[in-house]
Amino acid sequence: MAEKITLSAEGVLSVSDNPIIPFIEGDGIGIDIWPAAKLVLDAAAKKHGKKIEWKELLAGQKAFDETGEWLPEQTIVDFRDYLIGIKGPLTTPIGGGFRSLNVTLRQVLDLYVCLRPVRWFQGVPSPVKHPELVDMVIFRENTEDVYRGLELQAGTPEAEKLRAFLKEAFGWEIPDMSALGIKPISKGGSERLIRAAIKYALDHQRESVTLVHKGNIQKYTEGAFMKWGYELVRNEFADVAVGWDDCGGKPGSKLLVKDVIADIALQQVLTRPSEIDVIATMNLNGDYISDALAAQVGGIGIAPGANINYMTGHGIFEATHGTAPKYAGQDKVNPGSVLLSGVMMFEHLGWTDAANDIIRALEATIADKIVTYDFARQMEDATEVKCSEFGSAIADRL
Ligand code: NAD
Repeated sequence: MAEKITLSAEGVLSVSDNPIIPFIEGDGIGIDIWPAAKLVLDAAAKKHGKKIEWKELLAGQKAFDETGEWLPEQTIVDFRDYLIGIKGPLTTPIGGGFRSLNVTLRQVLDLYVCLRPVRWFQGVPSPVKHPELVDMVIFRENTEDVYRGLELQAGTPEAEKLRAFLKEAFGWEIPDMSALGIKPISKGGSERLIRAAIKYALDHQRESVTLVHKGNIQKYTEGAFMKWGYELVRNEFADVAVGWDDCGGKPGSKLLVKDVIADIALQQVLTRPSEIDVIATMNLNGDYISDALAAQVGGIGIAPGANINYMTGHGIFEATHGTAPKYAGQDKVNPGSVLLSGVMMFEHLGWTDAANDIIRALEATIADKIVTYDFARQMEDATEVKCSEFGSAIADRL
């Protein structure tokens, strides 16, 4: 009988061979990529004696058409209840003061980690000479920084009020017609993100965690993120990890925690990719780095992601691209992003064998030069197939 995934008192997920997992098909190309990915996920699970009971949840256009709401309360209740789910891309309704549905889901479930593994798969076209050296995992903070910031439009009474206050309280002269932005970075928020990155690095035998920040300019926000990170290593992980300054860059058998300024980080991921492993960073830096890195290994068509709260056990795995409306319903685009998000989900559930099988089958399919249009146009002698055919070809190679 199908069962819910639960979290034990020790914080460990309990997953049966027949778990109920909610999914949101997604808008636009969601109708193309989700069935293709599901075919592969189901086949890989079956090979290892497992069966997922998929439970459809509504969000986005489909929800609006059926219920008149973009994000029905029941969807949030079910994600809360079933802990782990997967989703395709969602349209952000334009106008009417709507927040992005993705951001809303992350905030209501307090999914503080945006997890983005970035690695190259054999055969995938890449703009760099050695894409095989890119094997990084980004932990991007998901609830603070610009996601929780205040922005005031230039010339509005609100901006003028804040400008007057800043002058009075701090003697700070800000030019007329200035837009103002404030971003919060908290100690607790930084620590839980960095803690998750360090634990992941230890669990996955990674060599280092790099804290990426702009602390040379933003000392008390981004600089504090770095400082709190190093303090955390000393206070909670001294037996297994060490900060760069505390070991002169020679960690011995321990996990090395180091830091790099954000602009240099964007150079180093290109010029010295083998030196960067797990990355822990704040929201906006993480946004830039995730997409820059995704481009190095084949683009957003195959970049997976997840939003996780390791304390409550909640996790939503998701395609990182948008709804690509001009391709919707054409059975054309690459299902790789949502499929690899499913692979991340399998790994998260402890279904490592099934996850590894999918990766092997995906690589075998690409090695046979059977690919969707986005890869075909960058490869010689490739056979361009439809989204659904790409899924079937991967399933055949499981
Ligand atoms: P997009 O990612 O939807 O598409 C941009 C381009 O990327 C496409 O035209 C296509 O060329 C390419 N692309 C995207 N996915 C692909 C795939 N699977 N295979 C091959 N090529 C692919 O970005 P957009 O056009 O800026 O956004 C469209 C809509 O998606 C907006 O409503 C936006 O708010 C939403 N969006 C949602 C998410 C999400 O749900 N996580 C993320 C980004 C954007």
